[in-house]
Amino acid sequence: MSKIHFDKIALIGIGLIGSSLARVIKREGLAGQIVISTRSEKTLERAKALGLGDSYTLDSAEAVKDADLVVISVPVGSSGEVARHIAGSLKPGAIVTDVGSTKGSVIAQMQPELPSNVHFIPGHPLAGTEYSGPDAGFAELFSNRWCILTPLDGTDTDALDRLTKFWEACGSRLDTMDPVHHDRVLAIVSHLPHIIAYNIVGTASDLEEVTNSEVIKYSASGFRDFTRLAASDPTMWRDVCLHNKEAILEMLARFSEDLASLQRSIRWGDGDALFSLFTRTRAVRRGIIDAGQEVDAPDFGRQKATQATPSQ
Ligand code: NAP
Repeated sequence: MSKIHFDKIALIGIGLIGSSLARVIKREGLAGQIVISTRSEKTLERAKALGLGDSYTLDSAEAVKDADLVVISVPVGSSGEVARHIAGSLKPGAIVTDVGSTKGSVIAQMQPELPSNVHFIPGHPLAGTEYSGPDAGFAELFSNRWCILTPLDGTDTDALDRLTKFWEACGSRLDTMDPVHHDRVLAIVSHLPHIIAYNIVGTASDLEEVTNSEVIKYSASGFRDFTRLAASDPTMWRDVCLHNKEAILEMLARFSEDLASLQRSIRWGDGDALFSLFTRTRAVRRGIIDAGQEVDAPDFGRQKATQATPSQ
C-alpha cells in the first residue's frame, strides 16, 4: 500500500502539537512542502531555527495558498478567527482540520467561516505534555495515541480516508465520534483531571499553616503528580474551560456528589466503602496499562524525558 502524501501541508500554529506534526511529517516524508505560520515573530523565528518547515510566514492566509492539507493547531478560542482569516485563500478541495481539545465549539466557530468547496474535518489527537511552544514538540508524540475525528454530516469519504491515513502515518490510532459525545468523554478523561489538579495545587499554595517550602520538599508523596497537570499551558486550559462549559459543569457536579460520598465514608469510618472504591480504581489503572496507554513502571513511568503522556 502506498504511503499517504500531500504536495503541500500548511501548519497554522507551531507550538507543542504543530511542531510535533512538523517533525513527524518530515520524518515520514508525508509532504512535498511544509509551510509554517504562527502569530508571533518570535515563535516563527524559533520554528525557522529548528528547521521545522520549508517556508515560513506570519500570514496564515498566505500559508494556506495551494495547500492540500491545512492543520490548525491554535488555542480553541482562536480557531474562528483563524478560519475567518484563511477562508478566502483556501484551495478548492483542500482538507482543513484542527487539533483542538474541544469539538462542539471549534465546529461552531469554524464551519460558518469556511467555504463549501473545502473538506472541513475536525480532529483531536489525544497526545500531549505539560510543555508548550515549538521546542516542546517531538516526532513520537502521537505514537500509539488515539486521534479522534469528528466528521460532520455529508463529509466526503475520500477526504476522511486521506486524513485518517495521515494520522495513522503520524503513529496514531484512529476513532471517529460525534462532537457532542467527544466533548462529554473528554470532559471526564481530560478536562476534569486538569481542573482538579489546578484546584488542588491552588489550595496547597493558599494554605497558610503549611509553608511553600514544605509543599515542595514533601511533594513526592502525591502532590507532585498533580503539579504536572497543573503546569499545563494557561491559555490553552482557559480556552478549554470556556469552550466546553456545559460538559465540564455536568461532570463537575457528578464529581462533587461522589466527593461528598467519599467524605461521608471517611467521617463515619466506613472502611469497607473506602477499600471497595480504592480497589475499583486500582483496576482502572491496570486497564490503562494493559491498553498500552501507560507504562507499568513506578513513578508513573515518567523517568524518560521523551515519554509522551496521554493528555488533553
Ligand atoms: P502551544 O504550544 O501553546 O502553541 C500554540 C500555537 O498557537 C502557537 O503557534 C501560537 O502562536 C498560536 N496562537 C496562540 N494564540 C493564537 C491566536 N490568538 N491566534 C493565532 N495563533 C495563536 O499550544 P499546543 O499545546 O500546541 O495546543 C494547540 C492546540 O492543540 C490547542 O487547541 C489545544 O487544545 C490542542 N491540544 C493540545 C494538547 C496538549 O497537550 N498541549 C493535546 C491535544 C490537543 P505564537 O506562539 O506565535 O503566539
